[in-house]
Amino acid sequence: SPSGLNPLAKHADIPEAWCRFDQQAGYKQIQLIYKGSTQLGVGNPFFRLHEGVAGATTQIGGQTYINYASYNYLGLSGDPRVSQAAKDAVDQYGTSVSASRLVSGERPVHRQLETAIAQTYGVDDAVVMVSGHATNVTTIGYLFGTNDLIVHDELIHNSSLIGAQLSGAKRLSFPHNDYAALDRLLQENRRQYERVLIILEGLYSMDGDYPDLPEFIAVKCKHKAFLMVDEAHSLGVMGNSGLGIRDHFGIDGKEVDIWMGTLSKTLAGCGGFIAGESALVEHLKFLAPGFLYSVGMPAQVAAPTLAALHILKQEPERVRRLQQLSAYFLAQAQRLGMDTGQSQGIAIIAALTGSSLSAVRMSEALFQKGINVQPILYPAVSEKSARLRFFISCEHTEAQIDQTLQAYREEMP
Ligand code: PMP
Repeated sequence: SPSGLNPLAKHADIPEAWCRFDQQAGYKQIQLIYKGSTQLGVGNPFFRLHEGVAGATTQIGGQTYINYASYNYLGLSGDPRVSQAAKDAVDQYGTSVSASRLVSGERPVHRQLETAIAQTYGVDDAVVMVSGHATNVTTIGYLFGTNDLIVHDELIHNSSLIGAQLSGAKRLSFPHNDYAALDRLLQENRRQYERVLIILEGLYSMDGDYPDLPEFIAVKCKHKAFLMVDEAHSLGVMGNSGLGIRDHFGIDGKEVDIWMGTLSKTLAGCGGFIAGESALVEHLKFLAPGFLYSVGMPAQVAAPTLAALHILKQEPERVRRLQQLSAYFLAQAQRLGMDTGQSQGIAIIAALTGSSLSAVRMSEALFQKGINVQPILYPAVSEKSARLRFFISCEHTEAQIDQTLQAYREEMP
């Protein structure tokens, strides 16, 4: 070697596994799962190739499946008006804004989208970022620090967890949807910290249930904490007008300090947003690393998202249909004796199968019958609460739901 030392001899005591990717624990676990499913003769339910728009139905391997594995809740991904907005934006702005918005990446459609989101929540302002996951990581990770406390529902999404870890704040979780437990926790811990952030979701994506938001607002006021609500699955889904959990409970948008949402689900785009008071939004726009040091959202993503938000507001019948179909799915599933866990019949219905293996088997059996639904396995959930997860679209039909539940019953574990 250039230095005259033999690195192999020098580090002979360093285990081989520390220098090889194929020896990493996570990788070995994936290999075991593949091996097990091959032995059991079940196909791989992951990375299935969808060959067109994935909505209430989807094309896989040249065949049409009834699809419950996409978050296209209102059928707006694939809507010609939304697609046209993307095409027009490409024609006008090209395919990349090529820089952070702070320097030369700003385009008119960014502010148009942000203003529309702020209006939706009845708050001062909003900022959009290129990834929903990154929005949580950078917002929580940047705003809070080692003198602060972050308390969150035990079922919070990975992106909020990573943000909380990045922040260096003390992190505590409370039992799912239990505002009384949160109150007790803050009673004991509040005074040891400067700022306190409570994180909830509008609709929990594993179970399809939601928090009693007015009760959580009361707790956050009592303990002088900030409240953040992640609306990834609730915007466009909950409330009479589909304007999310705030619409569902009829609360003022200003009662929540940080509204977060993703543009990738109902809004048929990609990215995330933070909405709230000007001081919050401006602060993030100048200093949050995931915004400041990252390229601006491409115009052909912002423009269709804005078009989708307009359609959501102009066509509330889509939301009502989604809510009707979800309630129908839940009622019929329960009538058939399926274990739907905590599901409330709002766009997401869980079907607990008892084990990861039976979830994989059910998913495979339904796939063979023309139904695409994703299994959720340990460690994403506990082993005994492994499940299939059905995402409903307003474009499903009762007949498709009946066919699905009939197929489920025939294969029921
Ligand atoms: N928050 C929640 C609650 C989510 O479910 C997700 C993704 N499914 C995200 C944030 C991240 O959003 P995105 O996939 O748009 O990056």
